[in-house]
Parts: sequence; structure tokens; C-alpha cells
Amino acid sequence: MYGKGEPGRVAEAFEIGDFKPGVRAKTRCDLMGAPPYSEAEGMLVRRFLTSAHDEALKTLAFWMEEAGMSARRDHAGNLVGRYEGATLGAPALLVGSHIDSVRNGGRYDGALGVMLGIDVVEALARAGRRLPFAVEVIAFGDEEGSRFPASMTCSRAVAGTVDPSVMEMTDGDGVSLAQAFAAFALDPTRLEEAARKPGEVFAFLEAHIEQGPVLEAEGLALGVVTAIAAQKRLMVRFAGVAGHAGTTPMNLRKDPGPAAAEAILALERICSGGKDGLVGTVGRITALPGAFNVIPGAVEYSMDVRAEVAATRDAAVEAVTAEIHAIAARRGLEASVTLMQDLAASPCDPGLTALLEDAVAATGQAPRRLPSGAGHDAMVIADLCPTAMLFIRCEGGISHNPREAVTEADCALAATAMLHFIDQLERRERA
Ligand SMILES: [Zn+2]
Repeated sequence: MYGKGEPGRVAEAFEIGDFKPGVRAKTRCDLMGAPPYSEAEGMLVRRFLTSAHDEALKTLAFWMEEAGMSARRDHAGNLVGRYEGATLGAPALLVGSHIDSVRNGGRYDGALGVMLGIDVVEALARAGRRLPFAVEVIAFGDEEGSRFPASMTCSRAVAGTVDPSVMEMTDGDGVSLAQAFAAFALDPTRLEEAARKPGEVFAFLEAHIEQGPVLEAEGLALGVVTAIAAQKRLMVRFAGVAGHAGTTPMNLRKDPGPAAAEAILALERICSGGKDGLVGTVGRITALPGAFNVIPGAVEYSMDVRAEVAATRDAAVEAVTAEIHAIAARRGLEASVTLMQDLAASPCDPGLTALLEDAVAATGQAPRRLPSGAGHDAMVIADLCPTAMLFIRCEGGISHNPREAVTEADCALAATAMLHFIDQLERRERA
């Protein structure tokens, strides 16, 4: 089960004379953007426990071993490479991200963090460095949830927070996770054995593309993540009286449509210029019954509100809820706001974040702190150990899209920052 890659194919793809950490990571992401590392020709789709996933793990295992690591697959379908420290069996700094993709996704989302980890270890090995801790590179199998209806199953397994009932969920073809595990030579009853024991892993570093436009707008290659945003999902419903669009005069209507329009503008106003990365989105609107010639009886819409600090998010939700009720009262309508999901913020570790800022500064870049509006494996691993997260600028902030792009220079800078981070960590551990 600890398969190696096919050296012939890899060597053919990589006749690299001088090894440039970060630049090679990008090249490897590009190579993995096509079959056999993608399930489809002409686009990247690499879902959990597919043959594309297996091919990726075989080649990654080969690259890990070539970089000086031992590679193993754990009981959750993650690939883990280990570079021993000065003392055998020392606690590890875990470095990595996810290797799965969304359908027709980009080549760098997740994969770049894994490839950077391998480059960083190879740089240490080539320099003959043995640290007071081990470095492990992990390729999480499922972050996106693009095959099964749950995301981050693999990092949850590592953190020891996975619910074994996930085995019953099925993919679009009716294949259960348990069946997919078996087909991947994994024992579904041993999922929880992927959990790391306390003390085995003392810190986690995830490098990931920003998937947003902030760094590019400020002309910066790298960012240091302060926290993964707290998120609330709500459903809003305005109810009035359905009627004939031609025969009901304007002053005799109870139309929930304009009320919803007002309330959506209120959300925009409340979230604009907010602190702590506050953002609010209405992504789905439904007018009922939904016809050209009918005044709707009800309008429903979704609200997604996020901020780095839960209190900031909650204050915005409260303010917009008050507006919604005021608008309904003024227009003689009924209104309801229903909470669908409440995800806590996951702050990165302040100590590690400060080290990462110093590491970014050592590359000559101004260390820019920013929250992550999207969820990442790091927020799950925070239940296991302190975490830090490095963002890499991506073109136009575009992600989950084949147009996703990064530059070689930014990837090289990211690898350098990660190596500085390891230096800082070594200094801290020796002190
Ligand atoms: Zn990702």
C-alpha cells in the first residue's frame, strides 16, 4: 500500500539541473494538472479516493523519498512524508495542505502547499541540516468535499475529531465512503487510527494560495493569516400577499420583493467598511411562486456573513436583522431570519504567527496580516496543535477555476519564507 511512483515517468518530466525550491513546486503542480493526476482530459478534477488521487500519491511518495523523507499512507488516505530530526522520533513540525481539487479546479489550490513542503525538506536535506524536531509533509486527501458531502474528513481524522459515521455517506454514484476506502486498500473501521497522539506533532504550517484579491491589490507576494473567519449562514423570508401584477394598484400591495431589495442593500451598507474582514453576501434569492405576472407572496434569500472576530460578525447579523424587522413593519409584511449554520472563528497561534511574520520580513517583504475568509485544513488541525498559515498571491484572486495562476517568483519567495520560519522555530526550540 505504500506505493512508489514510476521513476521513469517522473525522471522524464524532471531533468532539473539546479533545484530551485518553490519554482519546482509550481512546476510539479502544473504536471499534476492533467491525467493521470486528473480524472478528466482537458481539466483538473482530482477527487478523494479516485485513481487520480492514487496516482498523485504514488508520485508524491516518490518525490518525498527523493527529498530525503520516508513516506507512508495513513488510515484516512493522507500521505505523510517524514524527515527525521537530530534525534530519531522527535516531535514533528507538520507542513502541508490538501491534494484533492474541485471539479474543473485550479492547479495550485492545496497542491502548492504540499509541493512547497517537499521542496523545503529537500532544501534542508541538501544542506545536511538536522533540526531539533522532525519535519513531516502531509497531503490531505479530502478538503474540498467534492466527492462526498462532507469536507475536511482527512484533516479531522488526523486531529482526532472525525465522526466515524462519515463512512455511511455516499457519493453521486451511490458509492459509500466505506466502499471507497476498501477500493483504495484502506480499512474503513480503522479511520480513527489516523489521529495523531498529543506530543507527536507540535506545530502545523500550511501554505496556500490566497484565493482572494487583497495581496495582489497591495502588490505583495505573501500574507500571514491571523484567523480563519467565523461564518454564519442564515435564511431570510419576507411574506406578503400574492396578487395579480396587472390589477393590483401599487398602493394596495403587500409585495415582499422591494422589502428584500431594501434589506439586501442594508446588509451591503452594514458590512461595507467594517473591521475584522467583515463581509456579507446574498448568494441565492427566490421569489414565490415565481412568475412574470404574479406579485410574489414571499421572497426568501440566503445570507452569508463572515468576520475574523465572531463578535464583529454577530453585531452585523444583529444590525441587519433589526433592519429586516423594521422594513417588514413599515411595509406591513411578515419577516423571519433563521440561522442555518454557525461556524466559529479559528485563530492561528499568535506565537507561530509572529514567527511567520518575521520569516516573511526576512525575505524583504512587508509582512501583511490578513484573515482568511475561506475554510482550510489549518482550522481543523488547530484542535491538534498550534497552527500558522502563509498566503501566496494568486492572479486576480481567482480560484476554483482553471484560470488560477501564481508566479514562479512568488512561489520561490514562499519557499524562502517557509525555510526562514523553520530557522526561527529552530532558534526558539534551542533557546
Ligand atoms: Zn484549498
